[in-house]
Amino acid sequence: MSGIAAQLAEVKNRVAESCHNAGREVSGVKLVAVSKTFPAGDIRKAIEAGQTCFGESRFQEAEPKIAMLPEGLEWHFIGSVQRNKVRKILPLFGCIHAIDSLKLATYTSQVAGELGLSPEVFLQVNLAGEESKGGFSAKDLRAAMVRLMALPEIRIKGLMTIPPDSGNGEARKWFCGLRELRDALEADFSTSLPFLSMGMSGDYEAAILEGATHVRVGSSIFGTRSYRVDGELG
Ligand SMILES: *Cc1c(COP(=O)(O)O)cnc(C)c1O
Repeated sequence: MSGIAAQLAEVKNRVAESCHNAGREVSGVKLVAVSKTFPAGDIRKAIEAGQTCFGESRFQEAEPKIAMLPEGLEWHFIGSVQRNKVRKILPLFGCIHAIDSLKLATYTSQVAGELGLSPEVFLQVNLAGEESKGGFSAKDLRAAMVRLMALPEIRIKGLMTIPPDSGNGEARKWFCGLRELRDALEADFSTSLPFLSMGMSGDYEAAILEGATHVRVGSSIFGTRSYRVDGELG
């Protein structure tokens, strides 16, 4: 087995174990393999090992890699979305994880309508109010919720967060906070927000215990990244 195949298998085992510990079905957690900064050849190794769902955070980097790889893969855009890239991102990525303002959501819906697409999206929440990160505050999200729900061409499936880099096991409390916010929004707005995108290499097991449906795992599968990209926060 290549390093990537072995690491992917290890992550899948740990996802399954976390699901078991949480009393959840393994089928309820999607592993988004975050391939940003890694070449198409590395992604191919993961594909050969059975992975079909990948996450990228920069359009300029992702576009040529996607073109080199087989069709039929599932691409998730996990980085911050620049308005001037929306028209290019939508045809390649069926799911967008970091819609972080009403303005961006409105524009994305408009462009999706023009392109005849209806992407799945997550609303990014900045629970800790960190300056360095995008996302709605819980308060702003509540204030925008009715208008967000009325946007016709995006399918709002849930919430996404990137907790503060704590490295001390604190991530779980933010994951719990995101789940509680989701539960409250569902009740207060009589809507369904089934998905929670939370958990990266250092904390995906805690995220699964708190109800993550999508974990975004990069370095544990592909190895240490040798350079940073825009929108990379970990
Ligand atoms: C890079 C990135 C990840 C993956 O991080 P790892 O620590 O390598 O697993 C997850 N989510 C987002 C938004 C990222 O930018």
